[in-house]
Amino acid sequence: MSRKRRTPPRPTVVLDFGGVLSAGHDPVPDLHALLGGDAETLRRAVWEGRPAYDEGRIGRDEYWRGVASAAGLEDLSEEEIAELQEVDDRYFLRLDPLSRALLHDMARSGLRLALLSNASAAFGESVRRADWFEAMSFAIISAEERVAKPEPAIYRILLDVLAHESGGVAVPGSVLFFDDRQDNVDAARALGIDAHLWPRNGEAHPDGVRHGSEIAREVLAGRGIVLD
Ligand SMILES: [Mg+2]
Repeated sequence: MSRKRRTPPRPTVVLDFGGVLSAGHDPVPDLHALLGGDAETLRRAVWEGRPAYDEGRIGRDEYWRGVASAAGLEDLSEEEIAELQEVDDRYFLRLDPLSRALLHDMARSGLRLALLSNASAAFGESVRRADWFEAMSFAIISAEERVAKPEPAIYRILLDVLAHESGGVAVPGSVLFFDDRQDNVDAARALGIDAHLWPRNGEAHPDGVRHGSEIAREVLAGRGIVLD
């Protein structure tokens, strides 16, 4: 009879980026300040092209040329395309202060942290250069994988990377995941991941809806994870 006790798998916290770590979720005003034109037309172009950009079906130049075209600007130079990407990155990379504090506390407590984001490859590069990224073990970026949440395939990639990292099998139930979209949470739960809705940062919440970081702290405490 084996007396060896199974050690519980090390808990991992996986975070969405937009609306969870970022302070806001609407880069359109910043882009509009740069591009001008009709703000609503621009808004439509920014969001209509985004899924294809985030799934890596179109590249950076094609995406930004489409957005600029909606603002009446054609023939963008390489510098102008880079500037649009930069404005978008800068907008999203502003972290919510409470999210940043949570990230800091989780990193200090030795939790394994990872990012699972629907984002372009260009944003993936920027996010890995952010000062706080050293707290993360890795990032799964949809455009790099050519598949986005809520497709089950991207969660399987996440679980595979976690299994590979720990030299074994990833136990989905020991992976905590926070996302501001219910469909992303539901898809993760369907695979057994311990997923929770994070009320989107930067939006007015109805009375009684708490900040996502507060919810996350409570969920962690409920799993016996005490943050320093
Ligand atoms: Mg999000």
